[in-house]
Amino acid sequence: MARILHGRPVAERIAAATEEAARALARRGVRPTLAVVEVGNDPAARTYASRLERAGKNAGVAVRLETLPKGTAEADLGAKLDALGADRAVHGVILLTPLPPPLGDVSMDERIPVTKDVDGQHPLSAGRLMDGRPRFVPSTAEAAVELLRYYEVPLAGARVTIVGRSMVVGRPLANLLLLADSTVTLAHSRTRELARHTRDADVVVVAVGKPGFLTPEMVSPGSVVIDAGINVTPSGIVGDADEGIASVVEAYSPVPGGLGTVTTALLVRNVVRAAEGAAA
Ligand code: NAP
Repeated sequence: MARILHGRPVAERIAAATEEAARALARRGVRPTLAVVEVGNDPAARTYASRLERAGKNAGVAVRLETLPKGTAEADLGAKLDALGADRAVHGVILLTPLPPPLGDVSMDERIPVTKDVDGQHPLSAGRLMDGRPRFVPSTAEAAVELLRYYEVPLAGARVTIVGRSMVVGRPLANLLLLADSTVTLAHSRTRELARHTRDADVVVVAVGKPGFLTPEMVSPGSVVIDAGINVTPSGIVGDADEGIASVVEAYSPVPGGLGTVTTALLVRNVVRAAEGAAA
């Protein structure tokens, strides 16, 4: 049976270092603070915010939830982000998406100053990563690399297929893995013969948002699967990989209990790094 790559020990190791750094800042009178901006009252966003709150509390990082009412106009959201950007007591800002109408898919990525862009969404953050000089990187993408490194999965020279090319997971992860000398295939909905790419890979990362998407026939014995999917189903939260892959692959990350906790730990760590930068 396959090895399970649990996120908890990875998250705990990151959290321990974060806590120590936050304590050093506290001695200088700085309380690292993250503002989580949400529009409307989405239960999934609320769950994510309370997970962040809990992780922040353990590490000595304050998490402020800033809720704007449903129906907020683009200009008002922009003004809120500008105010948080200028607030010296706030070190990191994230905006929870998707945004409800009328905001839809308006892009606010450039309204959060790059120094407070703790989830790496600003185009400058993305550019730095692509240029091989990452500062803040989208946490889920970094979490995948942290998990693979913690469990000593070789990355240099490895064939990695990522399914999903979003700016939060697939694309930044492709860049991180290139920096780790992997040979990366970035697949998406228009990829032909997807199973050939996944079967050919030493590591498969699936970030599609469809339960059971990665089937046992799509993976090879000896490979490692990282499941980034978070899908709410009547039977609870599941990832993108079918549970049958466990009988084929060498190791896989579970959902829940895999990437999620590592993602949260990295985001909190980034808030401390942003506070260190502001206090320098
Ligand atoms: P997204 O923006 O909707 O992107 C989904 C990607 O999957 C797209 O690139 C899409 O291709 C691709 N795709 C869709 N159907 C496909 C198919 N049949 N074959 C191949 N590729 C297909 O989603 P996201 O924001 O990246 O999120 C993906 C999943 O990760 C979701 O379950 C989300 O909840 C989860 N997630 C988890 C975390 C975490 O902390 N663990 C963080 C963020 C997201 P096209 O580009 O061609 O449309």
